Amino acid sequence: MNYLNLFPLRLSTTQDFELYNRCPYLWLKLRCEYWTKYSYNIHLEFGKEFASALQTTRVAYYKDLLPAREAINLGLNQILDTFAVTFQEDNGNGLKTPAKMQEVFERYFVEFPLDYDIVPFILANGELSVEQSFDIELPFEHPELGIPLIISAKPDIIGYDNRDIIHLKDEKTASQSGLTDVIKTTNKYRVQNQGIQYVTLINRNNLLGEGRKITQMGYRRIPITKTKLSDRSGAIPKNSVVVEEYSFTMDAWYQEEWWQTTLLLVEEMLIAYKKHTAGVPRAFNRRYGNCEKMFQPCELTMNCSSGSAQDLERNGYVQMYRDKDTGEERPMREKRIKLGLPV
Ligand code: SF4
Repeated sequence: MNYLNLFPLRLSTTQDFELYNRCPYLWLKLRCEYWTKYSYNIHLEFGKEFASALQTTRVAYYKDLLPAREAINLGLNQILDTFAVTFQEDNGNGLKTPAKMQEVFERYFVEFPLDYDIVPFILANGELSVEQSFDIELPFEHPELGIPLIISAKPDIIGYDNRDIIHLKDEKTASQSGLTDVIKTTNKYRVQNQGIQYVTLINRNNLLGEGRKITQMGYRRIPITKTKLSDRSGAIPKNSVVVEEYSFTMDAWYQEEWWQTTLLLVEEMLIAYKKHTAGVPRAFNRRYGNCEKMFQPCELTMNCSSGSAQDLERNGYVQMYRDKDTGEERPMREKRIKLGLPV
């Protein structure tokens, strides 16, 4: 059996830099060899659908100028039309249901009313600065295709506060209960790491136009846990806070540090990949130290102890990628063929 690999065409903080720093070997398996095992993931689905409903409401309010109540109702209806249709009994803590999402959605706008939140603006492409994707070229070429490597940024919302300071906000629904303070802090700084990537790339490339620069990042954490939401059927207690907000200053020094460190990291990844494809053993090492230190379970744990692709296959993993146009899972082999690469 011929096991294929392909260096990512697009790099991101969470999928690439963070994963590579955690364990280069795991990054190779997940991001270059595309080992995957399909299962419905309530946490991913819940986060995706919640973000999409927020986008619908914000576009309706800030761009289409609907009254706040109508804009919020559009988001609520979307939850019924999409998430409630695809929802499967969950593999999480039993709290992430369509009804619970609607309840949290409604409460989100009690804590951050549309009239008083940061105000997004229209970008040069005519789109509102809500859930916009920005693709930026890195000064490196893809090792097999020879085209510039791309890095992507997709912030939830960018907008002005009442002092004309531009903020970037990232919202994440969280599910874990009983997290230690160390893990909560680690998670907070993981989001900050994503924020500095977005801010640096957008500012460096003047993507907001008219000399606008982002200087603040806010992380809005929406915990869907029993302590926050009472029980499965119960309503959220009136006085409990549903959204926790953390703020980080994104100054010029911090942005430059991130940029220079990222260039070094991408260079290291490319060198390791070239060695690996040339047959050099252990070009991507396992980082046992980081693995334990971060308390993160490994997605391919059995592979760490055995190290063989055959074991992954025996455990139900396949080399598949998700086709962006159709949303379908397709064999990775097809991706290489589509790109004109040998298989
Ligand atoms: S279990 Fe092994 S392969 Fe997985 S992250 Fe830890 S060190 Fe890396």
